Amino acid sequence: MKVDRRHSLSVKLLKLVLLWALLAGMLLSLAQILFDLRLERDTITRDASQILAMFHDPASQAIFSLDKEMATQVIEGLFANRAVHFAAIGHPDEPPLASRERPLSNPPYRFITDLLFGVEQSFSIPLLGRAPHNEYYGELRLTLETAPYGQKFLRYSLIILVSGVLRALAMAGALYLIYHVLLTRPLSRIIEHITSINPEQPRKMMIPMLPGQERNELGLWIIKVNELLDAIERNRSQRHEAEASMRHMARHDQLTRLPNRSLLLEQLARILADARRRQHNVAVLCCGLDDFKEVNDKFGYQVGDSILVAVAERLRAHSGRLISIARLGGDQFAMIVGDVDEPYEVAELAQEILDELGLPFPIDHSQVAIQATIGITLFPDDGLDASKLLQKAEQTMMLAKTRSRNRYQFYIASVDSEMRNRRTLAADLRNALLRNEFHLVYQPQVSLPDHRVVGVEALLRWHHPERGLVPPDLFIPLAEQSGAIIAIGEWVLDQACRQLREWHDAGRTHLRMSVNLSTIQLHHPDLTEMVTQVLQRYGLPRNSLELEVTETGLMEDIHAAARHLNGLKGIGVQIALDDFGTGYSSLSYLRRLPLDKIKIDKSFTSDLLTDPDDQTIVRIIIQLGHNLGMRVIAEGVESVDQQAYLTAEGCDAGQGYFYSRPLTAAALIGWLDDYEREHHQTAAD
Ligand code: C2E
Ligand code: CA
Ligand code: CA
Repeated sequence: MKVDRRHSLSVKLLKLVLLWALLAGMLLSLAQILFDLRLERDTITRDASQILAMFHDPASQAIFSLDKEMATQVIEGLFANRAVHFAAIGHPDEPPLASRERPLSNPPYRFITDLLFGVEQSFSIPLLGRAPHNEYYGELRLTLETAPYGQKFLRYSLIILVSGVLRALAMAGALYLIYHVLLTRPLSRIIEHITSINPEQPRKMMIPMLPGQERNELGLWIIKVNELLDAIERNRSQRHEAEASMRHMARHDQLTRLPNRSLLLEQLARILADARRRQHNVAVLCCGLDDFKEVNDKFGYQVGDSILVAVAERLRAHSGRLISIARLGGDQFAMIVGDVDEPYEVAELAQEILDELGLPFPIDHSQVAIQATIGITLFPDDGLDASKLLQKAEQTMMLAKTRSRNRYQFYIASVDSEMRNRRTLAADLRNALLRNEFHLVYQPQVSLPDHRVVGVEALLRWHHPERGLVPPDLFIPLAEQSGAIIAIGEWVLDQACRQLREWHDAGRTHLRMSVNLSTIQLHHPDLTEMVTQVLQRYGLPRNSLELEVTETGLMEDIHAAARHLNGLKGIGVQIALDDFGTGYSSLSYLRRLPLDKIKIDKSFTSDLLTDPDDQTIVRIIIQLGHNLGMRVIAEGVESVDQQAYLTAEGCDAGQGYFYSRPLTAAALIGWLDDYEREHHQTAAD
């Protein structure tokens, strides 16, 4: 960057100094000239009186003796002076004795001098006789032309003026040079230097100290600017560091230091672009820890965190095969496998990872074992863009978890549509209660030894406005996931109890109502309170209500389950263990739970007559139940032979299509009437 010369500081200074010096020079010269003018005027007067004094005596002599010749000589003598224009001797009242006039000279400056001094100046001196009489004879008159004086005056004035201007010029020039050398030039150099500074790295181009300027204002200025540049650079690098760490933080999980979801998606997008070019396959693995929430609840969040870190470490051990590992949040991790030739490679890797995660984690003095489930999607078969692939891998993992755990699962298109289906259903389910789309049906339970109807099981039905009847096996898990089961379960209990009250009022006081209880409900803190209120609302005997809980639900946390069941038991309701035999759990825990009844799962009943294993299982369940003081009921009784077999084995009751499908309340009353007539029983029996 260069300053235009016209605007340079030194030129500006030059102009200013010149103006002022000229002005001052002119004024001073003018004063000098005016002073000289006065002096010159005095000179004319002095000259005139000198001349008159000099010629006074001869002129007096000539007029005294009226000597014309002498007078003429005196006049001639006077005219020796070049300034004399006119001279005369004589009496003012008479013609002069002698006189002479010379024409005025005509120099070019005449008009100036005429102006300053007048064209001519006249003087006279009286010519007197001797003392003591001193008679007056006449006078000597003299007129001096001013031009000769003016010439000298003008010359001097000119010299004064010119020298004044020259002085001003010299001073301004000197000042300009000094200013230029001392200030403008160093400043320009500094400016040139500053212009070349890169704002990204100001420290690289510090301003060099100008020799000889170290101690003056310029030097100080350079030092200060350099300090400033240094501070700017330091500031910049600090900010860069802060930004970098912010960027890192925004894209990484703080706990495990693994990339987070957004960074993973970026990486995946790049990997996919590359794979597309090279026609390679890529696999996305989504790994969710099973029951991690329980680990947190049981051991505390600190232990949970350290397990997550350890999981991340175990995953990192595979970084040879995994292009990228990320934590998606909570207990979920994602991994990317590149260059996949065959899906089985990914399956093997997934199994390896599952096996490794299954090894116990040493925590404090004990060991914690966890399991995981992995969902897998493949590029390009299952999706073309990063977020789709990741999303489907997550869904696959979630879905796999609802079926069984500790395994991997590849994405299947039909599974995907099932997921969509579930999502819309789950959304509809949120409004089902308000829109009155639920109703209950009842399935009778029959005592095997005497064929009496001892109770009914209330089963929930959802009549979807478009889909019609939606099976409870489909919507109950959805309601459990969303938490809607709490409100729905309360409604079921209320409806069932209201119905039972009606039947009791109608004289069927021997009927007991079985209501299914979800595990979510079981662990809800207000359950006991809610059940108590409903029973009070309808004034029902406590033991006329039976709550069915499932084996798998209890097994997840046996201690909590025992606590909650004891709470329920405490208010006097009956408790039945539903679907018994499907949970593959040890039978010994049964002893720890306050159960009144075991329900043999219908899968055993259905194969009872053909499968010897099932016969053994059913026999053992019945014996075990009786040993523990519980009654045993078989579900899914569909034939008279099954009924006969169960009766022979000592089973207490049966339930199934053999007796009746689940019926509406009205239909059930009709069925009861028919059944009792057939078996020659009455409600009063
Ligand atoms: P569950 O508690 O084991 O209920 C018995 C299921 O077996 C019922 O299916 C019933 O219709 C069916 N069933 C009865 N007799 C026979 C038979 O002879 N043969 C065969 N093959 N099946 C028979 P449903 O009504 O579809 O209910 C399915 C499951 O939904 C229930 O299994 C229960 O776990 C759940 N559920 C139903 N209603 C509720 C409820 O109100 N609350 C909760 N939490 N779960 C419910
Ligand atoms: Ca049941
Ligand atoms: Ca069952």
